[in-house]
Amino acid sequence: MMTRYDGFGNKVVLVTGAGSGIGRAAALAFAEQGARLVLADLDKAAGEETVNLAGGTDVALFLRTDVSSEADVHALTDAAVSRFGRLDVAFNNAGIAQAGPRVHELSEADWDRMIAVNLKGVWLCMKHEIGHMLEQGGGAIVNTSSSLGLTALANQPAYCASKHGVVGLTKAAAVEYATAGIRVNAICPGMTLSPMVLRAMQDDPDVLEPALRAHPLGRFGEPHEQAEAVVWLCSDAASYVTGHAMAVDGGFVASAM
Ligand code: NAP
Repeated sequence: MMTRYDGFGNKVVLVTGAGSGIGRAAALAFAEQGARLVLADLDKAAGEETVNLAGGTDVALFLRTDVSSEADVHALTDAAVSRFGRLDVAFNNAGIAQAGPRVHELSEADWDRMIAVNLKGVWLCMKHEIGHMLEQGGGAIVNTSSSLGLTALANQPAYCASKHGVVGLTKAAAVEYATAGIRVNAICPGMTLSPMVLRAMQDDPDVLEPALRAHPLGRFGEPHEQAEAVVWLCSDAASYVTGHAMAVDGGFVASAM
């Protein structure tokens, strides 16, 4: 059962990566708070399924969006405002993972794709969301980084770089727009049982045991536990919180530092 917050009833919330995992859990959590939703994902069928789970097209709009494309992101934020008249909250969450290559083994194409989706995608979303929020006099944004945005593991150099970048970008935006009433924070999930992680475990079952040991709570997170943090950060209960990179990671970063 989610914590209930006042004030989401008349709010419009945009979520990227909403077809799966953490993004879908957050979309459903915002729907439970009574918000109207603008949902984006690469996967149209999955995004439309989230719309249905959230209560249908009366309360949620889906747009197939590649967050690394400025044209797509511009169309997304415009659609939010034309359909619902405003944009109050954004959860910029879409991302991709990639394990394997070390720095000297990584291809230029893989580096470019990782940075384009995980880092440029967050910047493009904020760029087009913030204009609307400035006109309205405020807003709240949460970006998805990772525990690997706060510390590092071997064999994920582009992912680590992209997620550290999200933390830096989040702090920069928080400082720039604080006086405009726009709060900007990040979540830094530890291993969370989304389809992305379940796929990675299937591909390489050997990662399971060491990964579990690295999380002091002794288990992996659930997408709804990330959603709880996101909704709180976007709620008025977090009115004095901005520029924060919140570890939601079962103690992973605390034990790594
Ligand atoms: P997920 O289940 O794979 O969900 C991510 C969603 O984003 C998928 O529906 C995916 O679509 C979509 N997506 C990928 N690239 C996109 C793009 N260019 N434009 C729009 N949508 C795109 O993964 P998740 O675990 O929920 O991850 C969500 C976020 O949390 C990511 O930023 C990830 O890096 C971060 N994170 C996750 C964990 C974890 O343990 N799960 C830990 C730390 C951080 P397709 O399926 O079609 O690609």
